[in-house]
Amino acid sequence: MKDFIYTALPARVMFGAGKLASVREEVEAIGATRALVLCTPQQRAQAEQVADLLGARFAGLHDGAEMHVPIESARKAREIAAELKADCAVAIGGGSTIGLGKAIALEAPVPIIAIPTTYAGSEMTPVYGITENGLKKTGKDARVLPRSVIYDPDLTMTLPLGMSLVSGMNAIAHAAEGLYAKDGNPVMSLMAEEGIRALAKGMSVLAGAPDNRNARSSCLYGAWLCGTVLGHVGMSLHHKLCHTLGGSFNLPHAETHTIVLPHALAYNSIAAPEAMARIAAAIDAEDAPVGLYRMAQKLGVPTALCDLGVKQTDLDRACEIALANPYWNPRPIEAAPLRALLQRAWEGAEPQP
Ligand code: NAD
Repeated sequence: MKDFIYTALPARVMFGAGKLASVREEVEAIGATRALVLCTPQQRAQAEQVADLLGARFAGLHDGAEMHVPIESARKAREIAAELKADCAVAIGGGSTIGLGKAIALEAPVPIIAIPTTYAGSEMTPVYGITENGLKKTGKDARVLPRSVIYDPDLTMTLPLGMSLVSGMNAIAHAAEGLYAKDGNPVMSLMAEEGIRALAKGMSVLAGAPDNRNARSSCLYGAWLCGTVLGHVGMSLHHKLCHTLGGSFNLPHAETHTIVLPHALAYNSIAAPEAMARIAAAIDAEDAPVGLYRMAQKLGVPTALCDLGVKQTDLDRACEIALANPYWNPRPIEAAPLRALLQRAWEGAEPQP
């Protein structure tokens, strides 16, 4: 067995249908008295439900969360938190809303209680991202790790099917790269494999029955595990490519992950055979990259970058940006095979090592 170091991040997680009802107790448990509720305009109804549940501990609601946390929206939310004298933020939504909570927590003593409603996994990580002048800067800071996380599958019933499936693939990507991480460890690998299995199983049911509660639970459970992996170990080529493509060409986050994943795994397949075997076992396929590609086809999610509006003439630039400051990767990142990977991802062709 490979040597490892395992450092656990503090986490308090409540999981179950109807668990939203305990939000007030969670606020009380961290000693907060003035909670600012955060959401996107689309999720205002769910945020108002949180406000009602908080009773006297509710200080205000701000529905200004936006994709990729533009600096202006971070500043606005910080101002509102200060005006309201908020001593905690309750973020209900996906990675964008939790990201807004993180932007506040980075500069003020406003701990976060996260109520995730997608499978993106931000709630389990100390990683934040803020976009300024078209560039998304990310960093790590213990203060932005939510103090408490409430996973209530009932809240994911309204997540549209298409978004649910790409969000699930986004979560699988964290676990897949976690399985070959340089700083990986056996605990995270167990969580990664189980997370992929739970999501693959849940999504296969959701595709035909989006209202199936057991499948929604299975997906959210998988999302927790995959998000935990993302918070604990380093990511590689796949995340670098998605970061590059998403930031440079303004692509939707989860869809980009969905399309690139089988190709990034194929690139790494020979260098990381054990990880590939565990991913394949979790999705019940013979080969991990091809299995994920077929799974995406079966689920009906996007499989080609050209369908997201990327132009073929953009691929050379994407390749150059991805080659600059690369993350650690099990296989060295080289221009020609990387360009071939991008070509296949753009066309939606079957992945190849
Ligand atoms: P999102 O938060 O942008 O949500 C997409 C849309 O879906 C929003 O309009 C949202 O209101 C809506 N939505 C979410 N849940 C819903 C529900 N249950 N019912 C109805 N509508 C719902 O999408 P995301 O994929 O969760 O997050 C993406 C962002 O999170 C990206 O900016 C990404 O970089 C970031 N992220 C950060 C980390 C981290 O560790 N820092 C991890 C993962 C993702």
